Amino acid sequence: MTIVCRFAPSPNGFLHLGHAHSALVNHAAATRAAGRFLLRMEDIDTTRCRPEYEQGIIDDLDWLGILPPEPPRHQSRHFDDYAAALARLEEMGLLYASFETRAEIARAVLAREAAGRSWPRDPDGVPLYPFSRESMTEAARARRKAEGEPYVLRLDMGQAYALAGAGLSWHEAPGDPLAEPLPVQADPAAWGDVVLARKDVPASYHLAVVMDDDLQGITHVIRGRDLYAATAIHRLLQALLGLPAPIYHHHALVLDRDGRKLSKSTGAASLSSLRALGTTPDEVRALIAHGLEPASQPTPST
Ligand code: GLU
Repeated sequence: MTIVCRFAPSPNGFLHLGHAHSALVNHAAATRAAGRFLLRMEDIDTTRCRPEYEQGIIDDLDWLGILPPEPPRHQSRHFDDYAAALARLEEMGLLYASFETRAEIARAVLAREAAGRSWPRDPDGVPLYPFSRESMTEAARARRKAEGEPYVLRLDMGQAYALAGAGLSWHEAPGDPLAEPLPVQADPAAWGDVVLARKDVPASYHLAVVMDDDLQGITHVIRGRDLYAATAIHRLLQALLGLPAPIYHHHALVLDRDGRKLSKSTGAASLSSLRALGTTPDEVRALIAHGLEPASQPTPST
């Protein structure tokens, strides 16, 4: 079996050392296995993604010496694939339209908490959706859709879980991306009724990543530990859509001096700015090694 890995950044900003680490780990695994390393532009959010960021990604990978020979796949050119997957889930009765604004959702969570109940959070710490499919009748939903009101499509997690979620696991390669993977119990229900198509974008990260990992024949999904828990949603979608499950490896994150995950919002230096300062690719590798979080791995379990 040929090993196929991918680096899948969103071109909504310049790459930093955390991205470089992910790309390098993927490239190293593909090279070691005499496999393929692919690039994917996760650009479904066409309002935030920009050509100059995309060019920046290409320039940075080229500078690091790991630019794949094949052109990248652009998610923004494949909305039809995501629409087809949504149609299948809709036919299975697993999707529903939800019309609330972010502010309405935040207010509902506050109201529930003011009533003395602590409202559950998803693994990223975001409050679960405080309504449900039953909060509105199908007739009301159809009327609001017909009136042209914007809506998101949510996965009915209760039904999806009943269909494919119980006993679901994914395979995680601990330590080394090419190590023998171990099963990890998937807990998609911890995420509640996740959004699979947004108001402004007819897809979501979760749906698009699962479809593209299949369409690009990815055998090993290698990415940061911040996406470990979300793998449960990806595994559930694979099971619902009848897609093969790749092996996963969630690598350590690069942290800043304050122990925070690097991000644009915390002012992480971009690779292009490091390059402009005369930093070499070898020095980038050393900086990454210096900033890696301690080696504790999420523990696979059955
Ligand atoms: N596009 C995602 C990001 O930039 C990565 C998705 C993935 O590797 O699954 O964080």
